Amino acid sequence: MTNQDWAERGNAVFVGTYNRFPAAMVKGRGCRLWDADGKEYLDFLAGIAVCSLGHCHPAVTEAICRQAGSLVHVSNLFHTQPQIELAELLVNNSFADRVFMGNSGAEANEAAIKLARIYSGPGKYEIISLIGSFHGRTLATVAATGQPKFHQGFEPLPQGFVHADFGDPAIIERLVTPQTCAILCEPLQGESGVRPLEPEYLQAIRTICDKHGVLLIFDEVQTGLCRTGSLFAHEQLGVTPDIMTLAKALGNGLPIGAMLTTEKIAASLTVGTHASTFGGNPVAAAAAVEVLKIMLADGFLASVREKSRYFVGKLQELADRYPQLATGVRGRGLMLGLMLTDKGIGLGMEIVQQMFQEGALINFAGNKVLRFVPPLVVSEAEIDALIEKLCRVFDRLG
Ligand code: PLP
Repeated sequence: MTNQDWAERGNAVFVGTYNRFPAAMVKGRGCRLWDADGKEYLDFLAGIAVCSLGHCHPAVTEAICRQAGSLVHVSNLFHTQPQIELAELLVNNSFADRVFMGNSGAEANEAAIKLARIYSGPGKYEIISLIGSFHGRTLATVAATGQPKFHQGFEPLPQGFVHADFGDPAIIERLVTPQTCAILCEPLQGESGVRPLEPEYLQAIRTICDKHGVLLIFDEVQTGLCRTGSLFAHEQLGVTPDIMTLAKALGNGLPIGAMLTTEKIAASLTVGTHASTFGGNPVAAAAAVEVLKIMLADGFLASVREKSRYFVGKLQELADRYPQLATGVRGRGLMLGLMLTDKGIGLGMEIVQQMFQEGALINFAGNKVLRFVPPLVVSEAEIDALIEKLCRVFDRLG
């Protein structure tokens, strides 16, 4: 079966929600993928910031196989060892005391939204999020997402979501009403174009929350788990949330998400108020335990920061060499964006397509920047190889 055979079969049966590349991926190792035609790709997308330890990390694969051989699922009517170990690791390494597990980022955010509402009590249901944010595709998380293109056709959306213009805390404060229960934001916006929120801005948001008695929720679904150079992005920004959500990198590819909070706030979600059949499934949880152990080992974060410095330097050189296409670099850790000129933005999709032909996977986030979220185990040689391919594409298009 070739790529084309698979594409024809897939296109005949799927709901058409995705615009897929014409490749069926069959194998992954580290930062490399191979398609059904045997072509090799350098993967700087990592399943969209998911496979942070690289594809098929041997220790994670081993943990998955071991757990799959003993217990795959029992529901949350019972305790399981991997789920408890995972929750302990999360609690012992974060501000949080309590964890609720789901299967995805959107589900983790749904849990956060429900918790903020039930904790705050009747009448306090409004959540302020930022324009340009992305929080998921369920109805409540779409409503929280501050991008109208994701709302269109799905109205009426759930009530109680208000969007603030990005950048000025006074704009957020003006939207706080007696109905407000929380402010929700990503410490670094991913989907809308790798847009960092400055520490002073986040600190001002924290102050607004404290002044008005509303909760601060950080959506760290994409930024969490070492992606930005600290275990959680907020740690390097000097701001602690009341609720944090995680997903993407947690299972290195197995579906798992988590909502973390304090003892006091968690107490509002009592028996029967929230649940998930699969949430914290033993196999996904066993993978996540292994992921966290590797990430927490000495030297892991230091190596992410080291590679980030190297990659930022190379991307900056590229921007200097092609000023007609690129203007600079933004982001943190290994969540980086190459900012483009108007001409570069016009060519963004073409650049991604030509990189695909060159055997490298990147994307065009928010139709604004080229986004790079490689596995955190990427090597300097792989970064060099990516830059070489980008130079070839820029030479052709510039
Ligand atoms: N929140 C953020 C910041 C995300 O980047 C995403 C996905 O891209 C989500 C939530 C939704 O996660 P999921 O697709 O796992 O539901």
